[in-house]
Amino acid sequence: MKDNEGVRVGVPEMFGSLVFGDDEMKKRLPEEVYQRLKRTMAGHSLDPAIADAVAAAMKDWAIEKGATHFTHWFQPMTGITAEKHDSFIHPVDGGHVIMEFKGKELVKGESDASSFPNGGLRSTFEARGYTAWDPSAYAFLKDNTLCIPTVFYAYGGEVLDKKTPLLRSMEAINKQTLRILKLFGNEDVQRVMVTVGAEQEYFLISRKKYYQRQDLVICGRTLFGARPPKGQEMEDHYFGTIKPRVKEFMADLDEELWKLGIPAKTEHNEVAPAQHELAPVFGDCNNSLDDNQLTMEIMKKVARRHELACLLHEKPFEGINGSGKHNNWSLSTDTGINLLEPGDSPSENAQFLLILCAVIQAVDDYQDLLRASVASASNDHRLGGNEAPTATLSMFLGEELTEILETIEAGEDYEQKDRKLMKVGVHILPRFPQDTTDRNRTSPFAFTGNKFEFRMPGSGSSISDPDVMINTIVAESLCQYADELEKAVSEGKDFHTELEALIRRVIKAHKRIIFNGNNYSEEWKAEAERRGLPCLRTTVDALPAYLAEKNVEVFTKHHIFTKSELESRFEISMETYCKTINLEALTMIDMAYKEILPAVSAYVKDLTEIAMRQQSLGMMVCDGADGLDGADVDSGESGCAKSFGSFEASLAAELTRLQARTYKALRKLEEVTAKAHALSNITEKGAACRDEVLPAMAALRKEADAMERLTAEKYWPYPTYTKLLFYV
Ligand code: ADP
Ligand code: MG
Repeated sequence: MKDNEGVRVGVPEMFGSLVFGDDEMKKRLPEEVYQRLKRTMAGHSLDPAIADAVAAAMKDWAIEKGATHFTHWFQPMTGITAEKHDSFIHPVDGGHVIMEFKGKELVKGESDASSFPNGGLRSTFEARGYTAWDPSAYAFLKDNTLCIPTVFYAYGGEVLDKKTPLLRSMEAINKQTLRILKLFGNEDVQRVMVTVGAEQEYFLISRKKYYQRQDLVICGRTLFGARPPKGQEMEDHYFGTIKPRVKEFMADLDEELWKLGIPAKTEHNEVAPAQHELAPVFGDCNNSLDDNQLTMEIMKKVARRHELACLLHEKPFEGINGSGKHNNWSLSTDTGINLLEPGDSPSENAQFLLILCAVIQAVDDYQDLLRASVASASNDHRLGGNEAPTATLSMFLGEELTEILETIEAGEDYEQKDRKLMKVGVHILPRFPQDTTDRNRTSPFAFTGNKFEFRMPGSGSSISDPDVMINTIVAESLCQYADELEKAVSEGKDFHTELEALIRRVIKAHKRIIFNGNNYSEEWKAEAERRGLPCLRTTVDALPAYLAEKNVEVFTKHHIFTKSELESRFEISMETYCKTINLEALTMIDMAYKEILPAVSAYVKDLTEIAMRQQSLGMMVCDGADGLDGADVDSGESGCAKSFGSFEASLAAELTRLQARTYKALRKLEEVTAKAHALSNITEKGAACRDEVLPAMAALRKEADAMERLTAEKYWPYPTYTKLLFYV
């Protein structure tokens, strides 16, 4: 590994070298400013007096590293990041410039909010939006630009980004968890952090082949493509040997990520051919969000350098696994305790059980919100397929923990080796080793020893939405428990008796959400229905959750979103869904008219030409022309010595028939796409996309894929699945 001057450096020296982190702050800031900045980072309000000093130190550091520009780096509701670069130059007398960066430039920026999705939050006469420094995340260098993590909001203060609600939800869960910890006598804890580790799945394919497919370039997924002879059925890719070219990509990627202080840790091949995964070491939720956004961006950039294309779409190829982003989530104190780790004392265990209950209740009460948080046109292709969690929420706890909960609920003995009675606050829980809890890979929300793993999020989406939901809804359960227990204690009741009763009540009320079996099975579908767990199959079914009264209530109560902010999020998500499907439909139409039908015509022309020549030479009888089945091979009945039905004639006839069907499906798709696009009500439009456009797309694809199967490769305008997946 080499630094900028080409000198060899070790990974520890390189790690975080492009981040204005704690070391640099300490080194470059006056002690008092440093202390005040640390306080701000720990959640206290920003002290404006320190901004100039921090800005100057950041600028000096950045310039030493070769930077010329700065940008407020933010996360609008497009789900990707945005930046607008300004140089540091400042003209002075005599035609000279100096490099300058003022506190006010660090703290606040202005941007045109009308160019970003806002879901009706912006009135046309006031389109201004602002970015404000988020001191809790470190500034970093990217492409010679100092990037300052910021939040983004409208003139009237409404949030327009994915970061602000996350910060608010982290505050909400901190507040409620501290109340609970206090009840258990943990006076030394000052702050509770959400920890998140996001496992990122992706595909790598040849860049040259990628550019040959309009669907991949424009929509990120293949809209046509016949199934290859070999898919993933041999199960030879998962954890398989990594190809040298991919290995080089991963090494390069690691280096880029490490320089940015992103702790990339595990890399391996995934289930599908050409599919891979990267998992970082977990960190605090806000940093993990930034890190994951950067990771996705850098994956694409590094892939380009290696003549590869990195696909982050949830379902780039039909018939083989899609990509997800497992969101590992836990709570941790500033004293270093993971609150989802069963403790060493009865009191710690009681606390663990209560927090566990809070998550169980939250997932049960707000299944619809969790489902909505991962809803997108692309993720709809994945959820419910036999590869990803179903569209129904449930939780996996493992046999051991479930048994313990059942015993508590029943107030019975828990027979396990030396453990006779399981009583909250009296007994020590067994540790739940990863390998006994992590067996079930089909569950959407699994307890994996000391954290929960939410497996529904899509590979290309921001983890902000799901984490905002989890933080908020768990904060709500904890708030209810704290209200109840604080009251009981103040009335002089026995804490442990009340606690045990509460835990028992929660288990009884919410155990329907626990399911340890195979979530992909047909039995589970029936069982889930029996338990009354909703199956929100598509985005259009899922998004109204943003507007449900109970959900508006929980968000406003914890100051995460106002009602109008929720309405705007609903609109933006539904609009994005419609736009995505519209774009896909138009791309299909374009590909079919401009490339697929002409390509097949060219093949048919050549086939028929051959057939005609064969005929003019008297090589054949014409009875082959009515299709493959009608081919009358070697019948000899025509009286011609060498009579046979030529495959050219038969195939040309078959393809011509398929072309006619394709054309019909194409006209139908045009019609329904235009009809859906003309609708002004966003919910109706979404429904039309789902019920009419998507089926019409599927119908067109079916005919086109049938033609692909019969067309010689040199005529087909696109690389086949086999070429895309196996020739990396
Ligand atoms: P897998 O789920 O494939 O078995 P690993 O066990 O390697 O994957 O890790 C999953 C992810 O969970 C990693 O990113 C890891 O850092 C993260 N993780 C581990 N402990 C916690 C925690 N307490 N909070 C949040 N994330 C965690
Ligand atoms: Mg995992």
